[in-house]
This record gives sequence, C-alpha cells and structure tokens, in this order.
Amino acid sequence: NTYLANIKQYAHLNAYNEVFEEEAIAQANSLDLRLQSNETTGRLAGMVIAIKDNICYKGHEVTASSKILHGFKSIFSSTVVERLLAEDAIIIGRCNCDEFAMGGANENSYYGPVKNMADESRVPGGSSGGSAVAVQAGMCHAAIGTDTGGSIRQPASFCGVVGLKPTYGRVSRHGIIAYASSFDQPGPITRSVEDAALILEVIAGADDYDSTASRKPVERYSAVKINTDQKRKIAYIKEVFDSEGLDAEVKQTLLAAIEQLKADGHTVEPVSFEYLDYVVPTYYILTMAEASSNLARYDGVHYGYRSANATDLTSTYKRSRSEGFGTEVKRRIMLGTFVLSAGYYDAYYAKAQKVRRLIKERTDEILKRYDFILTPTAPEPAFKIGRTDIDPVVTYLEDIFTVQASLAGVPAISLPVQNNSKNLPLGLQLVTKAFAEADLLNFATYFA
Ligand code: GLN
Repeated sequence: NTYLANIKQYAHLNAYNEVFEEEAIAQANSLDLRLQSNETTGRLAGMVIAIKDNICYKGHEVTASSKILHGFKSIFSSTVVERLLAEDAIIIGRCNCDEFAMGGANENSYYGPVKNMADESRVPGGSSGGSAVAVQAGMCHAAIGTDTGGSIRQPASFCGVVGLKPTYGRVSRHGIIAYASSFDQPGPITRSVEDAALILEVIAGADDYDSTASRKPVERYSAVKINTDQKRKIAYIKEVFDSEGLDAEVKQTLLAAIEQLKADGHTVEPVSFEYLDYVVPTYYILTMAEASSNLARYDGVHYGYRSANATDLTSTYKRSRSEGFGTEVKRRIMLGTFVLSAGYYDAYYAKAQKVRRLIKERTDEILKRYDFILTPTAPEPAFKIGRTDIDPVVTYLEDIFTVQASLAGVPAISLPVQNNSKNLPLGLQLVTKAFAEADLLNFATYFA
C-alpha cells in the first residue's frame, strides 16, 4: 500500500507504463495468509519489485516503450521473472524506458520522458530511467533493469541509487526483449548493495533457454561479509581526466574517493587505458549492427502494431515499421544495416570486432594486476530534459565510462556518492573481473 500510494503521489514522474495494482495486492494477501499459517516462504518474500518494460511477464503487456509493441502481451515469462516469483517477490508493474533500451535519458519512449525526482526538469538517465526513478521515489522496493552499455548503471547514478550490471552470461536473457544480444544483461537497481546481492543471487544462473547463460555455480552473494582489514588494489584510468565533457564536480568526487581509499590503506594507482576514445564508436557500431538484426522480427505480422494503410506484404512491412518505430530506433536500424552491408562490413563491423577484442584484452590485463577499476559512472550529473533531441552523438558520449565493461563482458556497479553543490546525485563505478560479483558487492559496501 505504501508503494501504491507513492506511485499515485509521483504519477507525474511517468516512471511506470503500467501498475499491476490488483494483482500485486492479491500476491501480497496470499503471501500474508501463508505467513500466518507459518508456511515457509521464499527468499524475496514481501519484496516489491518493478520490472523494466522490456522484460516478459506472462499474460502482461510488454512494449519496450515502443509503439510497435503497444498492446502486445507476453505469452511466456522471462527466466528473471520466473525466478523472482518462485522466491515470492511481488511484481508491482512495468517501468518506462527508452524505446528498445536505446538511449541514455529515457527521452526516446513512446510513452514520453521520465522525470528525475531530484530535479523534475532533469532526465533520470536511461535506458532504465523509469526503473531507477521507481526505486528513487519509493514506488517499489527494487527494480530490474537491463544494461547493454550502461542502462542500469547510468540511471542509477543520476537517481542516487545502486545499479549492478552482472558479468555477461551471469543472468539469463530468456524473455528479455533483445537489443544487442552479445551485450544485454538484466540486473538489479536497488537502494542498498545488500539488496542488489540478494536479488542477483535469485536471478543468476544456468538456464536451458539461454545457451549464453553460464553454468558456473551461483555464489551466495547475500552472505558475503566485508573484511575491512583486507587492503585492495584499485586502478583508476589516467585518460578519464582528459576526457572532454568531464564535469568539474564529477572529477572532484573521483579525486576525493581516490584520496579516501588511499587514506584507508588501499593501493590506488593510475593506469593507462589508451583505448578510451575508441570505446564509444566500437560500442555503437557493434550494438547498432546487432540491433538491426534483432529488430528485423517486427514486421507488422508477428507482433504488435500493423499499419492500417498497408495494401500488400511489402507495404505491410514498410508502413508498419515506418509508423511503429521511433526516430532513434530507425537511426540505429539504418546505421546497423549499413555497417553490416557487403561493401562496408570489413571497414566497420569486422574492424569494431577486432577493437572490441583489444579493449577486452587490455581490460582483463588491468584486472589481473588490480582488484577493481574505479571511474565515475557518467561524465556529468543528470542533464536537462530536451537535450537528447538536439544531438544524438552528445548522448552517445555520455556512455564513455560505462561501455568498457560492456565491451569486455565484465561486471560493474554504480554506487551513489555524496551530493554535489547542485544537490544532484552522482555515481562512482567499480569494475571487476568476470564472475567476481561476490568480491565486487563485498567491496562496494565501502561506498554505499
Ligand atoms: N545509452 C546506451 C545506448 O543507447 C546504453 C543503452 C543500454 O544499456 N541499453 O545504447
């Protein structure tokens, strides 16, 4: 009831595409009865969770905030949702996001922009902006987002909450609407590191429906206790300080964290990551290529929207797609198709694959020598609503610090840090080795 009341109070923030009010109350009531009769309940009993609107939940609409899927109902549940429900979580609704998770401000949604509760004239970040605001404004206990190049971490940073992108393959993608399949990962957005650990423990693990989901055993992340005596080795990237558009206070926040860590006896050293300027172009070439292929299935026949003006098969495809997709999604389909086309494949797609390998190898090499890489999550705090329309490349460059972990497939977490003078939330990011989530979550409690 508290969450439902907050959802009503903050309806103007536009965080939810739909609230499953009656169903959530029914779930809560049946859980209550089971508790009263001393039945054992699941590990998430009573946890009220919102899901990003690109996560399938059987019998419920799922739109990826696109007109092309408006009215479409899932015919099965994603593995993530199955696992949440099996542990007695209550699913309270589906959250607004950028269309097909493409964006960094939640301004590319068919259902309109989401507002940041810290300053309603500003964006919440994206693409999981609705999910982050739902947690920020107490409209749920925790939310599940998806992260392809920062979509969990960057909105978490803009909204002052915790956002975890797991190792690629740690969590099943079955039933997650695909954007870029070699990058996409679902993960928790929470108020505390402890909640992130518990939720990850529930949703992670092998899945017969996703061959890329790892068979590595899932650790008991929630049982991990911080060992405060252990001194860690942390790298920060020298080139971060030269990157264009780094906000002065973000820089100050990073420097202060470095000093504090040193004062507490940790080793913190600069490393050179010479590929920093290449991470954004490499990420966008590869994700647009994958997106153009993944979005071929929206043909006006199989799912969702079909143009009323179509006269034959070809015009059904053309008109349904032209009318159903938004501007940013069309831009990416066109660029993705271009980089995969016969004459340009080697120059763009194949080249980007090679650069991805270099970025991954260099990242892994740094993480052999250091426990963590520390960066700001984003170069600046939440910006004003309306900027995304002016120049998409400016928005792409927002991803400069988050896409390294995505290209390398390693886990990363955004942690809220002290407010700056504008009184806007900021986030610091910790990156670590593949499948070292237990260690990452453990050390993250240093900050949050
Ligand atoms: N802003 C990035 C993009 O638009 C990240 C999105 C995401 O992680 N889903 O691709």
